[in-house]
Amino acid sequence: MREIALVYLDRSGGLQKFVHDCKKYHDSKQSYAVYRFIISINPSDIAELDATLGNYILHKPVQAAQIFQSVCFIAIKTLSLIEQLQTEAQVSILLKPTHLPPFPGYTLSLSAFPFNYTSQRFYMSEGIVIAMGTVTKYTQGARFLCTEDTCPLSQGRFRYIRVHLPGATESATVRSDFVCTLCSSPLQEDMKFRVLGDKQIVEMTDAKALNALKGYANDQSHFRIQTFTVFLR
Ligand SMILES: [Zn+2]
Repeated sequence: MREIALVYLDRSGGLQKFVHDCKKYHDSKQSYAVYRFIISINPSDIAELDATLGNYILHKPVQAAQIFQSVCFIAIKTLSLIEQLQTEAQVSILLKPTHLPPFPGYTLSLSAFPFNYTSQRFYMSEGIVIAMGTVTKYTQGARFLCTEDTCPLSQGRFRYIRVHLPGATESATVRSDFVCTLCSSPLQEDMKFRVLGDKQIVEMTDAKALNALKGYANDQSHFRIQTFTVFLR
């Protein structure tokens, strides 16, 4: 599937954008815990190229991102795109579908029951924003080092990397109770490598909530508008 991912990137212009993004990192001469790349994916185009990979992107996006991570890492190393980058774990890929298939299975509506949104995949959701928080920072990636001076993992390596995954809370990404697998000493974050991103929390309510306001204005019955929280990252 890696080969197909590469073919897709090449054909869709994604590879060109990726090389351009790499150049920005390379030219900055700065070293980061993780290097983040956003890759636009057209699900129909990729399904036409290879149905298995298309299906993977739609239904197992986290694993699909790993395929692209591997492809991008190989590209960075073979073409020496980012001198500072050391390990594959430092490559963070965010797949962004341009659209989703127009089927009910890809629509998330909280007014529909029962809920069956157990799989971690892409959904479309339409609603009304009723409140917005301010933009805050979250950790996209961090590097940890062993606190034991004599341990080889106490210095400049990128062995212990924490990368934010979709749905993860801040405390899941960075914690203070990690231990070194080599010597069991506690790990400490190397703060200068931390990569921060923007996050905004939005309160939304389903578009169908408007119907309730329309139809029952004179009705004595009470209704409550249930909102759901959306994290924009
Ligand atoms: Zn250690």
